[in-house]
Amino acid sequence: MKAILTFHSIDDSGSVLSFPVRKFAQLITEVVESKTRICTLDQIVRPETDNAIAITFDDGMESVFKNALPVLKAAGVPAHLYLTTACVGGNNRWPTQPSAAPEFEMMSQAQLEHCVEGGMLIENHTATHPDMRALSPGEVRDECLQADRWIDAAFGRKPKHFAYPYGYYNAEVAAFVGSHYETAVTTKLKMLSSQDSMAELPRLDTYYLQKRGSYRSFFSFQANTYLKLRNGLRIIRQMVS
Ligand SMILES: [Zn+2]
Repeated sequence: MKAILTFHSIDDSGSVLSFPVRKFAQLITEVVESKTRICTLDQIVRPETDNAIAITFDDGMESVFKNALPVLKAAGVPAHLYLTTACVGGNNRWPTQPSAAPEFEMMSQAQLEHCVEGGMLIENHTATHPDMRALSPGEVRDECLQADRWIDAAFGRKPKHFAYPYGYYNAEVAAFVGSHYETAVTTKLKMLSSQDSMAELPRLDTYYLQKRGSYRSFFSFQANTYLKLRNGLRIIRQMVS
């Protein structure tokens, strides 16, 4: 079993993009105490890696700095943050955001620096979080490279990994992204398998895990049945993530 977990905000608001603070600490503690390893994206896609998860955060919300970073640092485990670079220091009201989506403050550059010092790797989630299916090839390139340059200038590391905003892409977008990044993640709700394309890796959206009493047995045989049940619900939430 191996899987990439998706989080957005770590807070107790109960929003569709929120994972509760204490539950986050519980999940990390239980995974660290289990036989499942928390590793980087580079490590998890290696064929020989098994019994592992990778932790990812989308967008760059301030609650990740406040509520997730202390837990990750204390546990000494890595995580990746897919950053929407034009929103740094602002909020998540980017142009394509539906008005019904919950509003969040985003991290400042100084808070992002603390995340990097704490072991978080900053990856690409475009500059302005567009629906990439609606962009021309030139606009796709600009969205990706603008975010790459911002992250490289701020933290001295070009992103190696990419997350499609809202999980939306088409064959042309995937071809460009696949040629520029080592992996790209979608919102397909699945464990990783050896059949996956590196430009279309599935993830587990942790929204569907927050009501579980324990995570000790989750990354086991139960998981695939559970995920099939949850896949229908994912469509409803996709529009705001
Ligand atoms: Zn996003």
